[in-house]
Amino acid sequence: MKEIYPKIFLIQGFCNIYYIDDKIKILIDAGNEFEKPVDLLILTHLHPDHIFYAKNIQKRTNCKIIIGKGDENLKLLFNYFSTWQGKKIKEFKIDRILEENDKINTGIYDFKILKLPGHSLGSIGIYEKKHEILFSGDTIFNNGFIGRTDFFHSDEMLMKKTLIKLKKLKIKHLFSGHNY
Ligand SMILES: [Zn+2]
Repeated sequence: MKEIYPKIFLIQGFCNIYYIDDKIKILIDAGNEFEKPVDLLILTHLHPDHIFYAKNIQKRTNCKIIIGKGDENLKLLFNYFSTWQGKKIKEFKIDRILEENDKINTGIYDFKILKLPGHSLGSIGIYEKKHEILFSGDTIFNNGFIGRTDFFHSDEMLMKKTLIKLKKLKIKHLFSGHNY
């Protein structure tokens, strides 16, 4: 676990996961086992490499799991993927569905939810305006690549609109779902 910004830690697993170790403890994505206390697990989107350990983490930490509107249909995922890397994906309970502009304050950070459909219909970004931080999931990456839109549950036209929306955003620190 490496501190990449004050109180923000990176852990690399099936995807990059980020831990915000503030008054409210947030984990962004569940592509790796995680042992520390978590209040909220935010899933950037419903893909197996991002949600694989969600059930384990929920069981151990009793955290709330939240996901963007459009990606809350777990059945859809399980119809498509029942295993990941040869292991069964465990179903978990979603506690809350996020909408555009929902706010999450951790103590020092004021995060805002941005809907970024394209890579999946309910993909979200988690944005901090003052620090110009964006947790982008699989929508955009540091190397300039954008997320695939040839998956089940993705939409190329929506991705185009999402990229236009992101161009207007001030981003100094991009923390994406893969690569670092
Ligand atoms: Zn993905």
